[in-house]
Amino acid sequence: MARFKRILLKLSGESLMGKQGFGIDPERLDDYAKQIKEVHDMGVQIGIVIGGGNIFRGLSGSQKGFDRVKGDQMGMCATVINSLALSSALEAIGAKAKVLTAIRMEPIGEYYSKWKAIEAMEAGSICIFSAGTGCPYFTTDTGSSLRGIEIEADVMLKGTRVDGIYTADPEKDPTATKSQTLLMMKYITRV
Ligand code: UDP
Repeated sequence: MARFKRILLKLSGESLMGKQGFGIDPERLDDYAKQIKEVHDMGVQIGIVIGGGNIFRGLSGSQKGFDRVKGDQMGMCATVINSLALSSALEAIGAKAKVLTAIRMEPIGEYYSKWKAIEAMEAGSICIFSAGTGCPYFTTDTGSSLRGIEIEADVMLKGTRVDGIYTADPEKDPTATKSQTLLMMKYITRV
């Protein structure tokens, strides 16, 4: 018996690139698809939000001279590319998957609505929510929190390269320490 009825899984774009350092590693993608299908086969309804950092991030783009809004739109398109890749990998192993987009772009994916998503999950599809919130100046972490609340998920789970919240990026700073608990106000005052 699964612990949760419905989950929102957030995968960072970077986690898809495997050892390649860029883009999508087909082996990593296949591995994720198998793990997701395994959980789905236990009867858990799954909504997924994928980032786009393996392809493009608006903020880094704007530091290189891109217009921020266009850069963020490029980032959102990157999340659509990752979502299509994951849906394809899921379908290849016999799982039903549906890509919904926060920006209209039929026939690539249907335009997102909470009710469409819930209906599809109830009917046995794994839903992939692409293009984040559809708005610039946000990230897919915000998008996944939003979608998680909207679809009434029991829990939001985040799959990323770092296993918790650290005082600094542990991949860049070897002195970074992991926080066991984090108080919202303490975090806000620190940043
Ligand atoms: N993005 C955006 N609005 C959103 C979600 C994402 O503008 O609601 C853009 C933003 O430029 C971001 C990029 O898409 O940098 C990729 O998303 P994110 O950085 O969250 O990907 P991740 O770090 O999870 O791979």
